[in-house]
Amino acid sequence: MKFTGNNVLVTGASRGIGAQIAKSLAGFGLKVWINYRSGAEAADKIKEEIENAGGNAAVIQADVTVEEEFLAAIKTIIDADGELSYLVNNAGITKDKLALRMSVDDFNDVISANLTSAFIGCKASLKVMGKKRFGSVVNISSIVGEMGNAGQTNYAASKGGLNAMTKSFAKEAASRSIRYNAITPGFIATDMTEELKDEVKDEYIRNIPLKRFGNASEVAEAVAFLLSDHSSYITGEILKVNGGLYV
Ligand code: NAP
Repeated sequence: MKFTGNNVLVTGASRGIGAQIAKSLAGFGLKVWINYRSGAEAADKIKEEIENAGGNAAVIQADVTVEEEFLAAIKTIIDADGELSYLVNNAGITKDKLALRMSVDDFNDVISANLTSAFIGCKASLKVMGKKRFGSVVNISSIVGEMGNAGQTNYAASKGGLNAMTKSFAKEAASRSIRYNAITPGFIATDMTEELKDEVKDEYIRNIPLKRFGNASEVAEAVAFLLSDHSSYITGEILKVNGGLYV
């Protein structure tokens, strides 16, 4: 895949989908900044794996819900590399509960981790990429933001908001040639889906036309495409990677 830019920041890349995105993008020749909040050891391991495979990576700690920390991380990258070509807002959490049992804190925590953090990243990237009139951002959303899901009102709201926010950033940033897109994965085999009960997993798989959960690498390939030169006329798109579960 062809990339005009040189480096990328992937938030929440110490494990799961983010770690695979980091590895795939390094495989395409980008320098990858692996962001983590608390998993320093896991992030170092991903960096090592990338370097052992001949890639270029660095780790950067920041809680992306805290504006000062996220902005400081971006400044560190600009100081080191002179630019930020690409951003993947991947960090996310769940705090599932039926709405009647969900506290306002549970709601706000998920909005902050999944939506406000991406707002901080999208806004900061518009500023730094705007100076070069080049850049591409991918937000990792979810099928749940499109379909809704019982027990996930907070998560659904965060991801539905992320889709709408992506389209709005795309409109504001197009005149500076910066593209904003989102991916809505269905059920992908990671720690997040590992928490689901077996009977819930079986029920989901029954309903997925491709009859399996996706792999993180299948999300990473779509991210690479949306960052790359191959998608140069695509902005404001919400790309489904869901095995046909929601079409
Ligand atoms: P995961 O395995 O739970 O990993 C989440 C990652 O996000 C970790 O690296 C974690 O870092 C990081 N993180 C969380 N809060 C953070 C914060 N405030 N600041 C910095 N990093 C933070 O999750 P995943 O399944 O890979 O999901 C990744 C993304 O894909 C999420 O946005 C999720 O909503 C989305 N998604 C997942 C699925 C799925 O089936 N798995 C489906 C659709 C969408 P630490 O460990 O250091 O805290």
